[in-house]
Amino acid sequence: RPPAGLSKPADLFAPERTNSTGFDLSDEVTLARIEAARSAAVLPAARPLIAGEASGVTVPVTNPATGAEIGTVQEADTDCVALALAGAAPWDAPVSTRAEVLRRAADLYEENFGLIFAALAREAGKTLPDAVGELREAVDFLRYYAAQAEARGETQPLGRVTAISPWNFPLAIFTGQIAAALAMGNAVLAKPAEQTPIIAAIGAELLHKAGVPVSALQLLPGQGGTVGAALTSDPRIDGVVFTGSTETAQIIRRSMAANLAPEAPLIAETGGLNAMIVDSTALPEQAVRDVVASAFQSAGQRCSALRCLYVQEDVAPHLIAMIRGAMEELRLGDPWSLATDVGPVIDTEARDQIAAYIAAARADGRLLHALTPPNQGTFVAPAMIEVPGISALEREVFGPVLHVARFAAGDLDQVIAAINARGYGLTFGLHTRIDSRVQDIADRLHIGNVYVNRNQIGAVVGSQPFGGEGLSGTGPKAGGPLYLSRFARAAMPGAMD
Ligand code: GLU
Repeated sequence: RPPAGLSKPADLFAPERTNSTGFDLSDEVTLARIEAARSAAVLPAARPLIAGEASGVTVPVTNPATGAEIGTVQEADTDCVALALAGAAPWDAPVSTRAEVLRRAADLYEENFGLIFAALAREAGKTLPDAVGELREAVDFLRYYAAQAEARGETQPLGRVTAISPWNFPLAIFTGQIAAALAMGNAVLAKPAEQTPIIAAIGAELLHKAGVPVSALQLLPGQGGTVGAALTSDPRIDGVVFTGSTETAQIIRRSMAANLAPEAPLIAETGGLNAMIVDSTALPEQAVRDVVASAFQSAGQRCSALRCLYVQEDVAPHLIAMIRGAMEELRLGDPWSLATDVGPVIDTEARDQIAAYIAAARADGRLLHALTPPNQGTFVAPAMIEVPGISALEREVFGPVLHVARFAAGDLDQVIAAINARGYGLTFGLHTRIDSRVQDIADRLHIGNVYVNRNQIGAVVGSQPFGGEGLSGTGPKAGGPLYLSRFARAAMPGAMD
């Protein structure tokens, strides 16, 4: 539905552009081409890219799958951030030029697929299918926001925008935030996640190579406590775009409230406690395939991932047995290998926390099934844990852990109430063949992205705008027609969240 007051709904809802075609991983020739390109790739060192002399200590970057050092990052210190803030200048080129440069960056990203896939595997532990999806999404964001900005015409930027991005989509979300802010002519100060500075450096260098001025895009790798804190408390910052945990978003909001102008927006995508309901009319094979993908793909490190599966009790024993069987088929291992389904989690801290959580469930007799992790790197084996319901989950466990609850046919209303009561609202999955149930449940849940009879991960730019309600984010949805409105001052009458 176009919001009231949008002057060009047709352009905004169907801007001229197409999504990236990606790579066909079932084609031997394509695979050989990817293998050659990523094997030849040499990862760059990461350092601050600012309008001035960078400063800060250099520390090693490691591969989560092996613990081996793969490069270094110079982490920005407070002097470096101060210099970047002083040198930041909104990008005053016409919108057509900005869009052209972003499209050139998209082409450069696609041309450098070997380097990007190598960095995603080595620095973030991404499997090749995940890396392909990530590159596509990054490229789609660049082209989509370029077209969106052109459809809006000239608008007034906010000014200086801080972009704080997560390690779980170190290229796609990093690029999406930056592309949105740049498309609207802002100066961006980008702080990538501590764990993935090299991928961010590759993205920022390609954006600069495409023609984004350094004063409009500065890269500040470093710690949240120094770089992140400075970039969310300096009164010269006019807006913050953030993806990460709900707790960090709350810290940022408080800092902004105390230090920034009251009109500076926080555009945040945060955590989730995502549920799926499988009723007794669902097709079991399809439901199981989609449960396994939603819970375990990307080692469960997506904020969209399935955390709590509700299965109608009549079909639960059969479905749980099938999930167990499907889990047994998952291969854990080196993300570089094409045989691997589940790579490592991001670092030793994450591994230890998730492993302790699974061990506690085992001790309590609630573990329905778990695989055995490889004895190296930061692997966590996929696990399935029985719970009475979503209210029993203390927090979002950001890894390959699926919780399963059984419900009686007459208890569907309570299940919906329990999901809403958690206050998160990112993704939800429903498997049913009762048509009338689909709209009824979707209408009653306060959830950003609802998926029916399919998996609940991998939102596609332009077709499935992604973002949550409540504790899961502020909106507007990324990759959707309203997103850019928050990156401009009074961008258009009636523009809204
Ligand atoms: N957009 C991603 C998806 O639909 C999730 C993004 C995230 O994990 O932050 O799976």
